[in-house]
Amino acid sequence: MQIVPGLHLVDGMAGGIVNAYVWERPDGGLTLIDTGMPKDAAKILAFVRSLDSERLDRIIVTHGDIDHIGGLAEVQSATGARVICHAVEKEVVEGSKIREMGSSVFSRAYSPLADAVTRRFMGYKPVDHVDELVLDKQMLPEGLQVIHVPGHTPGQIALYQADRGILIVGDAFGSRGGKLNMPTAMATPRKDIARDSIRKLAALKDVEIICCGHGAPVTVDAQARLQAFAESLDEG
Ligand SMILES: [Zn+2]
Repeated sequence: MQIVPGLHLVDGMAGGIVNAYVWERPDGGLTLIDTGMPKDAAKILAFVRSLDSERLDRIIVTHGDIDHIGGLAEVQSATGARVICHAVEKEVVEGSKIREMGSSVFSRAYSPLADAVTRRFMGYKPVDHVDELVLDKQMLPEGLQVIHVPGHTPGQIALYQADRGILIVGDAFGSRGGKLNMPTAMATPRKDIARDSIRKLAALKDVEIICCGHGAPVTVDAQARLQAFAESLDEG
């Protein structure tokens, strides 16, 4: 589905639970943003083929959760695309470090369990290696600026194109049921930092379109809704 010219939502992934996007670059290439669950790789590849898969040569992952990097290894090996993520997220994306869920006793027990479940039962295999590491404020060939938005994971990034007011936020927040909301509490070890990240995004100018990792794109009153959401965090 085309959200706006040059920005597509991959249709039909994981029953519509999680989103991946395809961005048409000014140089004619395609960049995939996030890769869904392991079983979503085939759907992503089919979607990219419909646009011309020869053009897919870059994959940006917003963060290293299974529902964003699940299809990464398969899509990467099918296309040879370069893999890009924040420097802090590299080891989780490459599978050499476990995704931490938090510092509580429960979370310390839960993180390795969740890791084992995703590897053994969901058929997840991490990508061999990340090709490019990015940092806050970096401008990418996509014409997108990197915005580091930690809290949900330490190295999560959002992507922002100022001229057209397009903001892709990963799981910095979600848009389920037409409402903006915090990322899942159990999978957000630093909620204070996650709230700061949302405030950082709400300070951006002229946001017209918001694309979340979960939920429908926000295309109406995006800036006002994001600012109201960020202000509501102070009350909570
Ligand atoms: Zn996530």
